[in-house]
Amino acid sequence: MRKPILAGNWKMNLTYHQAEAMVEELLSLGKAPESVESILLPNFLCIPLLADKLKGTGYQVGAQNMSSEDQGAFTGEISWDMLKDLGVSYCIIGHSERRTLYLENNSQIEKKLRKAVKTGIKPILCVGESLEKRQAGEAKKRIEGQVHRALVGLDREDLQDLVIAYEPLWAIGSGQAASPEDAEDMCLTIRQWIEKGYGSDLAEKIRILYGGSVKPDNIASFMEKENIDGALVGGASLKAKDFYALIEGVQ
Ligand code: PEP
Repeated sequence: MRKPILAGNWKMNLTYHQAEAMVEELLSLGKAPESVESILLPNFLCIPLLADKLKGTGYQVGAQNMSSEDQGAFTGEISWDMLKDLGVSYCIIGHSERRTLYLENNSQIEKKLRKAVKTGIKPILCVGESLEKRQAGEAKKRIEGQVHRALVGLDREDLQDLVIAYEPLWAIGSGQAASPEDAEDMCLTIRQWIEKGYGSDLAEKIRILYGGSVKPDNIASFMEKENIDGALVGGASLKAKDFYALIEGVQ
């Protein structure tokens, strides 16, 4: 049995005080259920706030990005031990906005993923195809290529805590979610790829999420699918009531 994950990627939204209000409202709605891993991924400045407020509540705090380096002259970067020091458990690696807007390439993503797994930060590796690739019938090839490039040189032991989020670019922030059938098909493709490369034990263990315009009213249709173990949610994770409703939808 894979424990489902509901991860809320706040992106560059919510100031410190807005984040404080959101988290207070979330906590007033109820506890984080034990049957779901509920993770909030705020901007870096809000990580200490969330780490403090969410301590002992069952909610976890994640980061949206991290450096592939340990420390030193890397202006503007945040390292794995800065995150761990604050109790961060998960980190998104290779979100499509990092890939497209900040030109993060497969080799940088591979280095970040390697750093995360070797230092005990659990990676949420994002993969997803463009509309162009989907229409050309190349979606699966694209996804397999991205997973392959990110995992180069890592072995089964390194990947025990790996989470992969299938996030088609055309579904992110568009209000146009993939159909649950297409999302399941892609998540199954990823699981089969992991099975071929690393064996069925790992393939059965890793959590594969769907992301892209997930809302409280469509989450259940994704969770019904065998190979979808939760969701990575952007817009709908910003409001406490929606985030809580999403968690309930994942249970
Ligand atoms: C995301 O950014 O990872 C995402 C899935 O965004 P949204 O839920 O807003 O489509």
